[in-house]
Amino acid sequence: MSGTPVIDLKAEGPKAHAARLAADHSASEATEILRTAVEEFGDSLALVSSFGAESAVLLHIASRVAPDLPVIFLETGKHFAQTLNYRRKLAAKLGLTNVQDIRPAADEVAAEDPDGDLWRRDTDACCTLRKVRPLDTALSGYGAWVTGRKQFHGGARVSLPAFEHTGSHYKVNPLVRWNPDDISAYFEANDLPPHPLVAQGFPSIGCWPCTHPVGEGEDARSGRWRGQAKTECGIHGRA
Ligand code: SF4
Repeated sequence: MSGTPVIDLKAEGPKAHAARLAADHSASEATEILRTAVEEFGDSLALVSSFGAESAVLLHIASRVAPDLPVIFLETGKHFAQTLNYRRKLAAKLGLTNVQDIRPAADEVAAEDPDGDLWRRDTDACCTLRKVRPLDTALSGYGAWVTGRKQFHGGARVSLPAFEHTGSHYKVNPLVRWNPDDISAYFEANDLPPHPLVAQGFPSIGCWPCTHPVGEGEDARSGRWRGQAKTECGIHGRA
């Protein structure tokens, strides 16, 4: 990936810097937002992808802007086989050259989830073990990351800006204003392969124990941790 290796925090501080970028790009196309992020953050930028139902759009845009952008995939050990297969095929099709599978620490899994069923008892602890801590470690070498979050997902995402700074990182959300029709149109226009579970009623796809099909008229993410108050895995609330 080309670009400068350091973030210039400017005299304004990171939160004001992110707010200014968000204001400057309040009506920008996703490609322009991502290109700006590459210019601003250089080698301190990574993209985090679940290789889920909508992921191909952002990954395709990244493949056009910076195909060597580090792409972090949290390999929790609980993904559907279809997701792992999709991750391999999509990365190859798009020519992404720096996809990294990030796994939970083996000693922590042995200590905290030796039978692999922590998700049955405590989904927050399971997400912390399998997603939050591995991502913290993976992102320790970066100052900014790109997400695929969109306002239409609802919940805490309805007021997302294109650029933000939370905890110790900038976050860039190029697709923040996209809606389901935009996503469908982009898949079609660019001949992108769908995740195989979409056709089976999964508009949002995470780990198999915590992902269920969604009925007509339900929110796209309502099948995630169904029956629980939990709506996020915790990686977006991290410090
Ligand atoms: S989504 Fe479910 S299985 Fe995956 S890490 Fe979180 S609790 Fe565990």
